[in-house]
Amino acid sequence: MKVVSSHFVKSALHPVDYPKDGRAEVAFAGRSNVGKSTLLNTLLNRKGLAKTSRTPGKTRTVNFFSVNEAVYFVDLPGYGFARVSKSMQATWQKTITAYLFRRAPLRLAVHLIDARHPPMARDVDLLALLDQAHVPTVIVATKVDKLKQSQHRRLEETFRAVLELDDEALIIPFSAVTGEGRKALWDVIDDQIGE
Ligand code: GDP
Repeated sequence: MKVVSSHFVKSALHPVDYPKDGRAEVAFAGRSNVGKSTLLNTLLNRKGLAKTSRTPGKTRTVNFFSVNEAVYFVDLPGYGFARVSKSMQATWQKTITAYLFRRAPLRLAVHLIDARHPPMARDVDLLALLDQAHVPTVIVATKVDKLKQSQHRRLEETFRAVLELDDEALIIPFSAVTGEGRKALWDVIDDQIGE
């Protein structure tokens, strides 16, 4: 899709506050600091549309961005910061479960995982949740510009092993710095939203 316009629409804590016009949605999820805001801005050719958060892990809302007045990109709350209390983790779980299991317009989840670290328990948890919710998912390995060549080469293999993925699962190496993976990710998004 050629992006001609994008803008922030709303933050919602509860499903009653989600947009009701039924446009197709693509959701973005991952650990805090994984590079989610940066990836959103890269996809939409915008510098500061999705705010890189100052207080990691504190954003609990589901944030909706309109793309070409036709599709919503949905920024799901990040997870996995040690500083976050038990009750906030419970809120995260509730928010994300409510969205993933009951959101009819959801076409694709983009699951971001930092390429530099092996996926962690909570990444595995989210993947399981996406599977249970039957949401088509693409895994994006972020910040690959920070990898050594040898690590880059082994990236897919490592991710597949740790996450126990089958051969069909899609992993896209991505870098906001070099632009690697941007087109591949757009191709997957276009496919799922029927562009
Ligand atoms: P979020 O919390 O998931 O929204 O993460 P941010 O988008 O705020 O990014 C967290 C940090 O990672 C920031 O310092 C970014 O500049 C950095 N970052 C994000 N994407 C990339 C990337 O592709 N390459 C590099 N080298 N750094 C990145």
